[in-house]
Amino acid sequence: MLGDNIISVENLNIWFQMRQGFFKDIVSKEWRYAKAVDGISFDIKKREIFCLVGESGCGKTTTGKGILRLVEPTSGSVMFADDPKDPIISQLLKTQAKVTLPDGRPGINVRKLDHNHMKLARQKMQMIFQDPYESLNPKMTIFDIVAEPLIVNRLVESEQEKEQKIITALNNAGLRPAESFMWRFPHQVSGGQRQRIGIAGTLVLNPSFLVADEPISMLDVSIRGDIMNLMLDLRENKGLTYLFITHDLSVAYVFSDRIGVMYLGRIVEKGPTERIVKNPQHPYTQALITVVPKPDPTAKEEKIILKGERPDPTNIPKGCRFHPRCPYVMDICRVEDPSEIEIEKDHFASCHLLTKKK
Ligand code: SF4
Repeated sequence: MLGDNIISVENLNIWFQMRQGFFKDIVSKEWRYAKAVDGISFDIKKREIFCLVGESGCGKTTTGKGILRLVEPTSGSVMFADDPKDPIISQLLKTQAKVTLPDGRPGINVRKLDHNHMKLARQKMQMIFQDPYESLNPKMTIFDIVAEPLIVNRLVESEQEKEQKIITALNNAGLRPAESFMWRFPHQVSGGQRQRIGIAGTLVLNPSFLVADEPISMLDVSIRGDIMNLMLDLRENKGLTYLFITHDLSVAYVFSDRIGVMYLGRIVEKGPTERIVKNPQHPYTQALITVVPKPDPTAKEEKIILKGERPDPTNIPKGCRFHPRCPYVMDICRVEDPSEIEIEKDHFASCHLLTKKK
């Protein structure tokens, strides 16, 4: 059962200042920005899998990092609300970052946490990285890799306690029996097992919210399902909530409860997975859906092939940012940014065509 919101992102902006050259930087009165994330809002419910989908470079990973403040947002808010009886949450609720959410529950304004409390919050909000080959130190044993977060956060008082926590985390990540894995090095296990080590390294801190950044895209197709099943088991047994980031709409379809489709720093359509896939409203979502491989190769469906390259985030087109590639572009699209419209319950999209339909 999905619960109340655990994460609420409101009008989040993450802009990077661009260098224009030494002389121009001195004389220029106006800075250029790469608007990696440009005013996005969404909520994630407890035990929910919310998927951000879009082409590479659309701002999905930056959004995930912004929520955990691994990159610092430019503006907007990120609220985190978890069980107030949890010892870490109760400590965070004693800081100046405490807020009362619109539904009356106590929450934490993540952007107001100081450095030490943000470190504490990251025990509850963790990230699983895309590349299990690069995210693990090849010179460390699996035991030392999983022990590192415990040591950095000073969470163990004895070697015995440390070993017990590592064994539990490895077992929970499906590396069983843990004792046969923990003294090996990353190169001595398979790609899928390396991703499980990454997951064990997050589980050892007992998180409640995970940002999973393309966690299966580097894996063989045969083991992708195993990792997805592991993540579903962890949701079931540990009550985890996920922000799942992927460029692959077919993965989002089988795995997520809700989807946010991102294009050039914005969410252009969001809603329950089934409704987005069966009744896509934004031309970009429709294009993504037509190129997903179908189980029946004889099924006839016209593919929408987008023309042109994805525009530069330092030079976002005026009006609807999708207009240079949109097959249905109208005059208004070149001048006016479409606002978000609720098409059906919990299903939103931003497109002028929807205003015309109303
Ligand atoms: Fe296409 Fe216009 Fe809709 Fe943008 S607003 S997606 S350009 S029809």
